[in-house]
Amino acid sequence: MTVTVPVNSDHVQKLESTQNETLNLLNSTQLIIKEAVQKLGYNDEMYELLKEPVRILTVRIPVRMDNGSIKVFTGYRSQHNDAVGPTKGGVRFHPEVNEEEVKALSIWMSLKCGITNLPYGGGKGGIICDPRNMSFGELERLSRGYVRAISQIVGPAKDIPAPDVYTNSQIMAWMMDEYSRLREFDSPGFITGKPIVLGGSQGRETATARGVTVCIEEAVKKKGMDLQGARIVVQGFGNAGSFLAKFMHDAGAKVIGISDAHGALYDPEGLDIDYLLERRDSFGTVTNLFTNVITNQELLEKECDILVPAAISNQITAQNAHRIKASIVVEAANGPTTLEATKTLDERGVLLVPDILASSGGVTVSYFEWVQNNQGYYWSEEEVAEKLRKVMVDSFETIYQTSQARQVDMRLAAYMVGIRKTAEASRFRGWV
Ligand code: NAD
Repeated sequence: MTVTVPVNSDHVQKLESTQNETLNLLNSTQLIIKEAVQKLGYNDEMYELLKEPVRILTVRIPVRMDNGSIKVFTGYRSQHNDAVGPTKGGVRFHPEVNEEEVKALSIWMSLKCGITNLPYGGGKGGIICDPRNMSFGELERLSRGYVRAISQIVGPAKDIPAPDVYTNSQIMAWMMDEYSRLREFDSPGFITGKPIVLGGSQGRETATARGVTVCIEEAVKKKGMDLQGARIVVQGFGNAGSFLAKFMHDAGAKVIGISDAHGALYDPEGLDIDYLLERRDSFGTVTNLFTNVITNQELLEKECDILVPAAISNQITAQNAHRIKASIVVEAANGPTTLEATKTLDERGVLLVPDILASSGGVTVSYFEWVQNNQGYYWSEEEVAEKLRKVMVDSFETIYQTSQARQVDMRLAAYMVGIRKTAEASRFRGWV
């Protein structure tokens, strides 16, 4: 039996690796880190410390397959910097996982935790495998084997994993069980993204979309616009995009465009979001049910007030940035706008809310899950949503003010805010 894991699509992971047309994800991340560190007035030694993870472990995991053979998988766990506190970040299962990408994504997690002011540094893990061709039993043995292999460097006060591409709450449950057996006591705080009955948090499924919603509300205020009746285009109708479309619709905005991997729907009078949500499948596909579809590229250039790329990387590039009509772009996806396009949008006065801010609702609610596990007292969905709102409003405001005060675009401002806490903690500890 193969397991269905309706999490992030293939494309999402593949294209994250080419965030900038010419640079790989690690190089382009290091480029902005360098600029941010210089703007903050730190010396080259600080950049030397922050440009790479302090620790990366490569493991080989032997797994007995259903046919009786043993297959040895390669996995990684990267810890960018633990000066602020334990590291935190997801584990992805994908055939194209590689060391450079895991390193870069652990740096991104430090930035997100810095922006949202969580008491964590960034971490990330991955296993080179194709979960779509593995049975339930094989996936369980691989998940447990990975935890045994990395057990010395992880733990509730060391490094706390979470779900990512092609991993889900069932995989988190196996990993938590394996860790608890190794330590010989129940350890729900070892991992987040667990099923609710094992200590998962209310509101985690919608956390990313809720965080993006708050960013849109704040951006609209800064632009002196009104969310009521604002015309919104959302690229991608998966976990992030579909919940976001629903929240925007419920808030009185007019969602006039949505898309998926097969195409896009556009109606200047507004789409029937409830109907589309009802008809979409678990992979976020709905446009294949319609005949009047346009392409994703056409959708991005349509007349609208707010554009939310919530699908894959490299969608707004040097080729189309000057044709984007929206006055606000909020990046729900990872790396949807290239660095060149960021510059063009900024020059044209478009307010761009960068990915490391806009999509940080997920890690924030992961933090809430860990806090609830540690205290053994659980919050309602409303309490989680309210706490998340406060974190997102404060984070947005800090980055917006930094961008204004330092006369830099919102992406560089987000990197400056994101790296500052790690840099300060490293300095106080006497590391640099
Ligand atoms: P998902 O797999 O649930 O949905 C992806 C959506 O994008 C689907 O509607 C799919 O049809 C569409 N899509 C795939 N290929 C496409 C293409 N070539 N052109 C247009 N659309 C395409 O994924 P998700 O969880 O919603 O994540 C979307 C983005 O948001 C990713 O970049 C992801 O890394 C980022 N993100 C998600 C979360 C989260 O909690 N879900 C958190 C942080 C960042």
